[in-house]
Amino acid sequence: MTKPLVSLVKFQDPYESVKSAIELCDGLAGLKKDDKILIKPNIVSWDFDLPFPPYGVVTTSVVMYAVVRVLKEAGFDDLTIGEAPLPNIQAKDKSIYEAIGYDQLAERYGVQVVDFNREKFEEVDFGPFKLSLAQRVLEADKIINVPVLKTHNQAKVSLGIKNLKGVLNRKSKMFCHGTGEFDLLQTFPRIIEKLPVALTLIDGVYTLEKGPGPTGKAYRKNLLIASRDAFACDLVGADVLGYKGEDVPYLRDFAERAGYSLDIGDLEIAGEDLESQRQFVDYDWEWTEDDTGPAGFKRRGISGLAIRKYDNSLCTGCSMQYNPMLILLSSAYKGVPFPNVELVSGKQQMAAGGFDHTILFGHCAVALNRGNPRIKQVIAVKGCPPDMKQFAEILREEGIVVDEAEYIKYRHYIFNRYKGKEEFDLDHWTV
Ligand code: SF4
Repeated sequence: MTKPLVSLVKFQDPYESVKSAIELCDGLAGLKKDDKILIKPNIVSWDFDLPFPPYGVVTTSVVMYAVVRVLKEAGFDDLTIGEAPLPNIQAKDKSIYEAIGYDQLAERYGVQVVDFNREKFEEVDFGPFKLSLAQRVLEADKIINVPVLKTHNQAKVSLGIKNLKGVLNRKSKMFCHGTGEFDLLQTFPRIIEKLPVALTLIDGVYTLEKGPGPTGKAYRKNLLIASRDAFACDLVGADVLGYKGEDVPYLRDFAERAGYSLDIGDLEIAGEDLESQRQFVDYDWEWTEDDTGPAGFKRRGISGLAIRKYDNSLCTGCSMQYNPMLILLSSAYKGVPFPNVELVSGKQQMAAGGFDHTILFGHCAVALNRGNPRIKQVIAVKGCPPDMKQFAEILREEGIVVDEAEYIKYRHYIFNRYKGKEEFDLDHWTV
């Protein structure tokens, strides 16, 4: 039996490196000249108001440009780039695609650039559940998937298979963060089953610790990983990040379902030596053992506050607000303990009781805990996801005085930590 072929190529000149990664894995072999080809980057979030470091978060535009150029030169003409970014990242007069240079790809190469959120979705049956996928994606003859080489605080790694969650509508994305048999790790890996993914190219120009968002810490990695076999590509991506396939639940389950091997030795690797590229990148935030909040809060001496750690049922909307929520709460600490407060979030955390105040963070936590007899005094932060201004106001009304300027300072801090460092180059998001 032939082994799945995966290429590992150093990122140097974007065009040459991408071309080489694709050639080494025979990446275009499954495509026909008249195929409708959909290229799927990873643009989970962006921010037009506050500084946003895209390193290890968003697929670089130089890699996207190179993919388009390679395809065009090989005679593939029907190219579309599509993504369904979080709906709230559209600036008034500028789309995210303009901000990252995709309008140039449209102009120079005639590529169609679409926001799935503005188009139709179609319901697809996955057996135990149904999901709504972008019609464009379902109509594509072939998909080229261009995720980022990053970790994920719920799934451990976020690579090609996870990147396809971006083809769902908002409701289905939320559904994917369900509970029990609909847990995130059971739902998103199924999406690929219905899609003609012909090539996965993992953009490892940067990699990200404690991803998937910009609050994680990025490193320059300079690596591209490509394969026509989506599972093999993710297996190698995970290995490069320091995770064996059997330690990544979605890869383990995927392998079991499809009868694939988790042994890297069962793959053929072309290009760079895998072992020399392997470097552990941590995926998760440290929490206290008794689940009372981030370890950093404890180190600062923050007490009287128990924040239950987020779980897989917290979807991307609330996850994006989770960090601002922590920063705001920490801004309220002035050396005096909080007034015995707990905070729960997501679709399965029940208030534990024994607290004087319970913050229910987000619509799901509010709905789940309605009538919970263990709650003494409820602080309901509705919204799906909650709005941070409103969150600050609600807390102030309860006597917890948060300082919104601290969050803005924090955003400048995470952006500035890359500033002036040669290896972090925002030009990678221009075409
Ligand atoms: S409230 Fe949060 S966890 Fe619940 S559906 Fe909305 S975004 Fe997801």
